[in-house]
Amino acid sequence: LEQEWKRFEQTTQASGTENKISSKSLPLGVTSSFQHWDPYPISVVSARGAYVKDVDGRKLLDLSMGFGAMMVGHLNPKVVRRVQRALRRTGTLFVTPSPSATEAAEAFKKRFKLDMVRFTNSGTESLMYAIRTARAVTRKKAIIKLEGGYHGGYDPLQVSVKPKLENIGPAEAPIPEIPFENEPGEVFVVPYNDLPYLEKIMAEHADRIAAFVLEPVMENISIVLPDEGYLPAVRELCDRYNIALIFDEVKTGLTAGIAGASHRTGVIPDLVTLAKSIGGGLPVAAFGGKQKYMDAVVDGRMAHYGTYNGNPLVMAAIMAVEELVTDKAMDRAEKINVNTLKKIDAIIAQYELPAHTVGMGLKGAITWSTAPVRNYRDFKAVDFEMAELSWIWGINRGIITPPGLDEQWLVSLMHTQRDMDKLVEHFREMAVALR
Ligand code: PLP
Repeated sequence: LEQEWKRFEQTTQASGTENKISSKSLPLGVTSSFQHWDPYPISVVSARGAYVKDVDGRKLLDLSMGFGAMMVGHLNPKVVRRVQRALRRTGTLFVTPSPSATEAAEAFKKRFKLDMVRFTNSGTESLMYAIRTARAVTRKKAIIKLEGGYHGGYDPLQVSVKPKLENIGPAEAPIPEIPFENEPGEVFVVPYNDLPYLEKIMAEHADRIAAFVLEPVMENISIVLPDEGYLPAVRELCDRYNIALIFDEVKTGLTAGIAGASHRTGVIPDLVTLAKSIGGGLPVAAFGGKQKYMDAVVDGRMAHYGTYNGNPLVMAAIMAVEELVTDKAMDRAEKINVNTLKKIDAIIAQYELPAHTVGMGLKGAITWSTAPVRNYRDFKAVDFEMAELSWIWGINRGIITPPGLDEQWLVSLMHTQRDMDKLVEHFREMAVALR
């Protein structure tokens, strides 16, 4: 590991210098704290298709793809064409109703089977408004979230996001990640795939709980799949206790399937939040769902605002993605992902590595544990040194994946099997070197 970090610093000197300069004006030298890692992150100047170029002049295979936001590939010609047309002919912001927003909303209703939808500018905002909608309809305030679940920067959700694993007990009190506490009793935290504990919290506090917010498939801790029957049981419990079920599909969304993870798993939430994959890399997001909930916006029980909401520029990007995300394109990318997972599984078996792979739609991850991982607590068994090594090993050989627990790859619509085979080959090289 030490050797790999030395190699990193030797080959990324321009990124190091860039970080020193940018840190004078940007905290940590970045514009989102997620962009930072120690000693400094790679600084990128341009991107096309499945590749980025960094300030050291290296061409790197991008498997992070903007945490999944670049699902149709960097500078996808269809996105470029539609956005250019909007820039040249339409204008970028009217703050009035516009046929482009209606067209995008109609497409969303159809694709994601929503009764109504509103556009926002980020996942964080969508979560904030989905929770407000749930609160307006249920006339309750508290929320339940998952231990280890990340949902953006909204205060009530900045709780038990990545608590120290050694601190976690059987019934965890929410651990704030912000420098102050939320109101007592405002947030309940539950482990994923733990129905008895969820039911206990709901039964004891149903009169105060407005919503259960979760990723149907947890994707900010590698990839953690729902147990058979977990999501249908969650649906049933939410109905029983009059609690809104909010699926955060900011990360899953189109990367999980043609109509998102909810339709893939067959469980339909009351409200859904979408961002990243829907916008071809432009800052656009959405929240929407059942009429009963969206009626709160219609009849004024709550308002939803935003100067840039649904502007013609991002609506053009949404329609380009709509056009690109076809059954055929998705099948092709998913097949590449399945092949990649199989090839990595074979290497894990051949070299008896203490790891297993997990995949969902166009995404895959290596979890450095031989035990199954059903929720954040099971990461106690993960070998974090191996996770770090396999990540930095890739970076040093021209493959970008997100660092830490979030390590997962995305096969975009512009990645080929040949691209993904580079990941496989570097993984094999590492297995050989470890022998
Ligand atoms: N929800 C999930 C599951 C996410 O992964 C993220 C971002 O990574 C968000 C919400 C917040 O989205 P944004 O960064 O667009 O505010």
